[in-house]
Amino acid sequence: MATVRTGTIVLEVEVVGDGSVALRWSAAPRARCYHLLVIRSGTVRAYTALQLGCEVLRYQINGLSRHQRYLIAVLASGPSALAASEWCSVTPRAGMQPHPEAAGEVGRHTARVERFSVMPQSRRLTAYWRTSKGFIDQLLLEVHCRGRVAKQLTLEPEVTSVSLDGERGVKLQDGETYALRMHTLFAGQVQHSSPEVRCVPAPQGEERQANRSLPQDGLIYPCLSLAPEVSIFEDEPVASAAPVGAQLVCRHCGQSVRWQEYRLLCGGCGAEFIPNGRGDYLEVGRLRFGTCRCCLPKKILVQKGEVLVCAHSGKEHIRMPDADQNTYRLIEDLPFGLCQCCRPRRPLARRGNVTVCSKTGETHRNEDGRYVLVPSELVFDATAIDDLLDAGLAEICATGVSRASASGAPRAGATASRPR
Ligand SMILES: [Zn+2]
Ligand SMILES: [Zn+2]
Ligand SMILES: [Zn+2]
Repeated sequence: MATVRTGTIVLEVEVVGDGSVALRWSAAPRARCYHLLVIRSGTVRAYTALQLGCEVLRYQINGLSRHQRYLIAVLASGPSALAASEWCSVTPRAGMQPHPEAAGEVGRHTARVERFSVMPQSRRLTAYWRTSKGFIDQLLLEVHCRGRVAKQLTLEPEVTSVSLDGERGVKLQDGETYALRMHTLFAGQVQHSSPEVRCVPAPQGEERQANRSLPQDGLIYPCLSLAPEVSIFEDEPVASAAPVGAQLVCRHCGQSVRWQEYRLLCGGCGAEFIPNGRGDYLEVGRLRFGTCRCCLPKKILVQKGEVLVCAHSGKEHIRMPDADQNTYRLIEDLPFGLCQCCRPRRPLARRGNVTVCSKTGETHRNEDGRYVLVPSELVFDATAIDDLLDAGLAEICATGVSRASASGAPRAGATASRPR
C-alpha cells in the first residue's frame, strides 16, 4: 500500500472503563468506508478489522481484555489515495492512558498467501491455500488460460479452498493448461500474491499423466485409493493407489460398486455410496443432511455445534433461509458474503431492499463490491474477542469453516477407505 498517507486522520482513543475504549476520528475527504484496525500485541500478534460506512466517525469497543495491550488505527479507503491515522497503543483498564506508537504502515500488517496448491480433476480444479496472520478483507483467485484471464473469483478470507467447475459456472476443458494464482487484498488493494501454479484437468485416473510435464510443486492429485484419508499438507509421499473399488459390493443387489467420475456407484441398481473416511460406506440416499458441496468424491455432512460442516474439509454448509430442506451453501457461494458486525461473521441476507446480517439484522451497504456496516448502535461488543483473536482471523470469522483437522490443515477431497 504505497499510497497511504499516514497521519491524515486524527484518531482519539479514550479508555472509558475496564475493557472499553471509545474511538473518534476525523473525516477523510472522499472516504467510501473506514477500516477500524485492531491488533492485539504480544508475542503472537492477532488481527481483526471492521469495515464501517463513511458516515461513522466514532465507535466504542466493549468487552476487550483489560490485561492485553491493543494497537488501534483507522484507515479510510476510497477512490483516490488512502488515508490512515497513526497507531495508538491502549490497555483498556480504567486509569490507563493511550499513547501513540510507531507500528509502521498498514501494509506491514497485511496477510500473505503462505501456501497455494491446486488439485486437477475432470473439468474441475480445486485450489487450497493458507494465509498468514494479518489484515485481509478479500482473496482474489485468478485463472489464466492461453494468456487470457479465464476467471476471477473474489472470496471471503474465511474460505480456504474452492472448486472451479461447471456447477460454479466455470467451464474447464480436460487437456487444457490453466495457470492459477491467489492474491490477498486489503482495503481494495492487492497485498501479496502466490506463485503461479499450472495444471491440466483430466478424466478420473489420468490426472497425473496429464500433468507430468508441469512443475509438480503446488500440485495435488486426487487419490481414489481405499487407504485412510491423508492430509494434503502433510509432507509425505502419497500412498500408492489400491485396486479401485475392487472389494465393494452393493448391499441392495450384490453387484460391484466402482469409482465412476469420482463417485462410488453400483453397476446394478445405481445406488451411490460415500466412504466415511474411517472404513465404512454410507448410502447417499439415506444421509440425513446429504453430501457436502466441497469435495469430490463427496463427503458426509455432520452437525458440529450449531453448524453443519463437511466431515472431511470442515467447511461450513449454510442452510439457506426459505430454501428446501436440504439446500446448503458454502461461504464462497453466498450471494452477499459475510457481515461486518459479528465474530464469527455471519451471512448477509436481503430484507426488502436492504442488506442485513442474518443474525443481528444490522444494515450493511455495498461500497464498490464490499459490504460495510452502517451500525445502529455505535458499539462493538468484543466479548470473547481475545479467544477469537487467539484463534487467528480464519477461525475468528468462521467457526468450523476452515478447521479441517486437528492440525488445521485443509484436506484433499479425494480419498476413500477400505470397507470392513
Ligand atoms: Zn446395487
Ligand atoms: Zn466436503
Ligand atoms: Zn453480523
